[in-house]
Amino acid sequence: SGHLRHLVAGNWKMNGLKASTDVLDAVIKGHDAVLAARADLMVCPPATLLAAFAARAGGSTVAVGAQDCHAAAAGAFTGDIAAEMIADAGGKAVIVGHSERRTLHGESDADVRAKAEAAWRAGLFPIVCVGETRAERDAGHALAIVARQIAGSLPDSLPGDLVVAYEPVWAIGTGLTPTVADVAEMHGAIRRQLVERYGGAGQAVRLLYGGSVKPSNAAELMAIADVNGALVGGASLVADDFLAIAKAC
Ligand code: PEP
Repeated sequence: SGHLRHLVAGNWKMNGLKASTDVLDAVIKGHDAVLAARADLMVCPPATLLAAFAARAGGSTVAVGAQDCHAAAAGAFTGDIAAEMIADAGGKAVIVGHSERRTLHGESDADVRAKAEAAWRAGLFPIVCVGETRAERDAGHALAIVARQIAGSLPDSLPGDLVVAYEPVWAIGTGLTPTVADVAEMHGAIRRQLVERYGGAGQAVRLLYGGSVKPSNAAELMAIADVNGALVGGASLVADDFLAIAKAC
């Protein structure tokens, strides 16, 4: 909640084939004027579908983004995708530092920062993901861990729009969510850190909550102070669920 427009972004992860264009079409159709007044919508399909989805969503109110980028603009990086390629395909944003990238691909805060800088260089905005593990929360270190990730994953000045997603690792794909009080505490702390570091620009950063957001819990989560939207994994693959989450904003 707050004065910022909510953004609901769907992270499809490694799911989706050409036939999944049906889901995008339903999301576009469902994002009517009433819903568009409540929340911005973005779909982040796998890279194979990026250009087709961007073309299909062109002229609609639904934006398309990517799930990762390389820090370099071009070069000998087999299998990687540059932010410039995402922009060329019609993407508007890129998720960087998702916990699955940090864990399964060994990405450090410095790597994430370089990818965020690449996003701005290409004219995209980054959705920078942070979040503690279950063990870190149980040890009472959640705020410190996330503060360190924010500090290391962002540059010293903001060259463009920024979205930060707080995604507790233990809440991703598990059906578990933090309490409203824990989300409020974390988002308040992230907001203070961003304002301390960037001044007024820190007030304009949209802070998304991610981790097992569903139609049944979205209203409660989206009403929390300094929660400016959601990053949605599993539920974003079902158009009706994704739209219901946006309606809850
Ligand atoms: C995610 O991985 O970004 C995510 C929020 O996943 P889920 O909604 O499935 O927990």
